Amino acid sequence: MSKPNTIGRTLCLAALLAVGFGLAWGFPVGWCLSVVQSAMRASAPYYEQLEIREDGTPLIGSHSVLNYDDVTYRTLSGEAVSFEEDRLETLHAVRFGGLPKRKPNYRRRWRSRIAGISDGRRPATYWYFLHDGRPEGAGYFVGYDSKSRQRVGTMGMEGFRTGELPTEERIHFGSYNFLYGGGFLQLDGRYSRAYEPRHHTGSRGTGRIPGWVLHIVSEGRLIQVDLRRRSVEVLFESPELSSVLALPRGTGNQPHDEADHREFLALRTADEVVVLDLQGNEEDRYVIPTDLREQTFTLYELDEEELLVETSKSRRSQGVTTFHLRWMNRAGETLREEQVELSRTLGRIDRRVEFCMIATVVPAPIVSTLVTALVKPLQYIGNRETNNYAEALSLSLADAWPALLLTYLLGAGLSYAVYRRQCRFGLSYTRWWMLFVFVLGLPGFMGYRLHRRWAPRLACPTCGAHAPRDRENCFACATEFPAPLPRGTEVFA
Ligand SMILES: [Zn+2]
Repeated sequence: MSKPNTIGRTLCLAALLAVGFGLAWGFPVGWCLSVVQSAMRASAPYYEQLEIREDGTPLIGSHSVLNYDDVTYRTLSGEAVSFEEDRLETLHAVRFGGLPKRKPNYRRRWRSRIAGISDGRRPATYWYFLHDGRPEGAGYFVGYDSKSRQRVGTMGMEGFRTGELPTEERIHFGSYNFLYGGGFLQLDGRYSRAYEPRHHTGSRGTGRIPGWVLHIVSEGRLIQVDLRRRSVEVLFESPELSSVLALPRGTGNQPHDEADHREFLALRTADEVVVLDLQGNEEDRYVIPTDLREQTFTLYELDEEELLVETSKSRRSQGVTTFHLRWMNRAGETLREEQVELSRTLGRIDRRVEFCMIATVVPAPIVSTLVTALVKPLQYIGNRETNNYAEALSLSLADAWPALLLTYLLGAGLSYAVYRRQCRFGLSYTRWWMLFVFVLGLPGFMGYRLHRRWAPRLACPTCGAHAPRDRENCFACATEFPAPLPRGTEVFA
């Protein structure tokens, strides 16, 4: 017999086999689970959303996931509504983000501090807004000719300059605003982050904000930057001004329509929504009810006197979103209220199920532990669900515990099976193997089973114990096994 390998080398061999088994198991099982999952999704192929009809009636639209044209509507009280038109014309709205509870105190990374916007001329000037990345920081525009690649100049609070921009002329603008888009209108979707802005939005029709005009909220001022005219103008001032949004008014709301609507600027201050036209003339002013002053809400203008405010709250674990509707007047006084709960589970698997699926694909305690303690918490932090690890870990644990429990029980059970087998075969290093299989779960157990030959166990002629016949002596009574009886086919040299 060859010299027995050290336990380390043997464990390595078994670990390699475990990985091989893990792959051979994980791929087909993962594939089966994904088939089951999409079948489950197809069995409930509708998602619900709240839509406000042009006449101001709120409706619940049930949209098919599989067919875009398949929509049914019902009223808040559940009566079915049908239309002659194909699709519901809905009312324009502006959605004001809530004020961040804590202003993030980290610096933005270089690439997310640059926004490229073209002025749309031929040849174009490519303007870049460069932010210093600090939470209470500032930035300025620098323009380059797209043909000659020469620098054209800079723009700050005092307008255009051919040379360097003096520090005091930079536009003060917190990086958290850059992040949430609250104070920098027309950046979303119309700029290319840190790339050359080869495409531009163009004029977008009369009465709408052209692609080369930007609005920035800077220290209580709304400034309008016109990249073509190379001008910077203060349109509005209010010490508590926090955000600016485009407010469309008129009919036709499909983004691709040659719509008959004009755009206005909706500003949020501490206690009011102010509507300006694109030249900065005040059109309307609505009081924000006290309880909504720091919250996210969606505002619909119903008519001259009445407004509809929608707020929503998701309960993720139950897959339910509660919409709260409040009809109010310009002074922010509530006229009436309604509430409706919509199911929003579709397309998202329950997180507990997701953890269990991961545990089924890789049934190993070490993997479920790593996913629970590291992968998921980092993902939650990345998704901005939370920004501290302890909280992310408790979120993760709340959903992962069934999967963790299952893999730990599996690891413990298989570890016991290893103990039994080690005893039956009279092998050493039992603790090492038990630990190995407990940590690596089912793949570990398969690695253990496959890493060596298991000799047949036959009753010992001396003591009767079932002894493996891969050695000369009985492991129970140490008596040497008798030589096998000659069969008459042996070849003697
Ligand atoms: Zn024996």
